[in-house]
Amino acid sequence: MMKDKMIFCDNLTYKYTNHQDGEEKLAIDGVDLEINQGEFVVVLGHNGSGKSTIAKHMNALLLPTEGKMYIDKMDSSDIKNLWNIRSTAGMVFQNPDNQLVATIVEEDVAFGPENLGVEPKEIRQRVDNSLKRVGMYEYRKHAPHLLSGGQKQRVAIAGILAMMPKCIVLDEPTAMLDPLGRKEVIDTVKELNDEFGITIVLITHYMEEAIKADRVIVMDNGKVILEGTPKEVFSQVPLMKKIGLDVPQVTELAYELNKVGLNVSKEILSIDEMVNALCQLK
Ligand code: ADP
Ligand code: MG
Repeated sequence: MMKDKMIFCDNLTYKYTNHQDGEEKLAIDGVDLEINQGEFVVVLGHNGSGKSTIAKHMNALLLPTEGKMYIDKMDSSDIKNLWNIRSTAGMVFQNPDNQLVATIVEEDVAFGPENLGVEPKEIRQRVDNSLKRVGMYEYRKHAPHLLSGGQKQRVAIAGILAMMPKCIVLDEPTAMLDPLGRKEVIDTVKELNDEFGITIVLITHYMEEAIKADRVIVMDNGKVILEGTPKEVFSQVPLMKKIGLDVPQVTELAYELNKVGLNVSKEILSIDEMVNALCQLK
């Protein structure tokens, strides 16, 4: 049922049309997908599999060519829902430099609620709270362009938070960051999910981010070809490799040990779990 789903796709289909030659490209191919309120979902898939296209449907930046997309029960094809959808599901993109518009951090964060017509006093509160939640309050008077990549992405997330969304969709937010910046951003996202129950849809290439999710969705060629807990998904070693995705080294080791007849669980994601499994072999 669509009821109480944060994201609900019904036969979602999207074709890009090249307006020069009329050429069509089927980017999303009849996807059915449900994401619950409060869930932390990671979307994996190699380049061109349709991840960004589906993400853009989640806040009505793109509208389905066929099928339906509902965001918190709102039909994205109904133009009346547009602003409600945009404030329900905020979006964070890959390049932090393209998202920050103001010359002072707190002005940037105020931008979203200002556009929504929120009262100035309330904006002040929301800006302060949002910056505190992402650990950037001390930087509120700084110039965004002087911050690190990870700090910029956290300011971008604060800007979304200030609109009080129920859901945040992040399209490879860590792709341009160094390891420390990646950790800052992912820890922030995880905390927003744990503490405030904000639904998270995170598109990423990094396995260490995917294993933190409640559920992993794997896309290939415009379709969802695999979904489950991180353990269920990564233990499908041959399938993951076939579509060009990596699995954690210990998961692959568990798979190989099984192949040569050792009875260890295939659902292993960490070295600790591997050590336990091996100790039990005796
Ligand atoms: P991903 O984010 O997984 O890399 P995308 O959603 O960006 O994948 O792209 C899915 C498919 O749609 C790819 O084949 C890509 O080439 C195509 N595509 C993406 N954007 C456009 C566009 N603006 N015009 C035409 N085709 C596009
Ligand atoms: Mg993409």
